[in-house]
Amino acid sequence: MELKEKDVLTNIEELGLQGEFNLEKVNKIYEIITIGNKILRNENKQADITKKETQETIINMVNSLYYWCGCGIAAPQIGKNERIFIVKVENPDDLDINDENKEYFTQLPLTVFVNPKIIEYSEDTNWDYEGCLSVSGYVAMVERSNRIVIEFTNQFGEKCIQEYFGFVARAIQHEYDHLQGRIYTDIADMTTFSTRDNLYECEE
Ligand SMILES: [Zn+2]
Repeated sequence: MELKEKDVLTNIEELGLQGEFNLEKVNKIYEIITIGNKILRNENKQADITKKETQETIINMVNSLYYWCGCGIAAPQIGKNERIFIVKVENPDDLDINDENKEYFTQLPLTVFVNPKIIEYSEDTNWDYEGCLSVSGYVAMVERSNRIVIEFTNQFGEKCIQEYFGFVARAIQHEYDHLQGRIYTDIADMTTFSTRDNLYECEE
């Protein structure tokens, strides 16, 4: 599938990537690799951000993230066994967040993580429902650290060390796991495994 040129240009601008791109190479929406496909279990190689091809992949990952409405996507999910993922977390307008949850629902502008390494996981944890584009339509409760520290290279080739909390830390741990060949269903409490529809039916 392909995107319109103006949408591609908007995504390149959001990424802040400079230089010329062949618009035919960066207008792709990838099909998502689904659970059971061994690509999701393969080893993922270090990525080279100085390569044009890697930057093109990142643009196409952003195109795909928006098309499929995820809050994160990892390279193995689009069929590339490389150590790259992207995350963007915005609170939906209709979310009713009480004061207790406000600290948990952290937000993150579009962020690219190349060759990431989580160097700290907090001992304090929380449980929440998680879903995955590769396990479409389902959710389950997963325990994650409240806080992480991660080293990575960004889309400009700069080395970064960042600390993240709450929901953003959860989203990053989820995507990072994809680079280790791990899927959330491997570590979820599968007694809570549910279709999205059934979950929201129960909550109403
Ligand atoms: Zn996932």
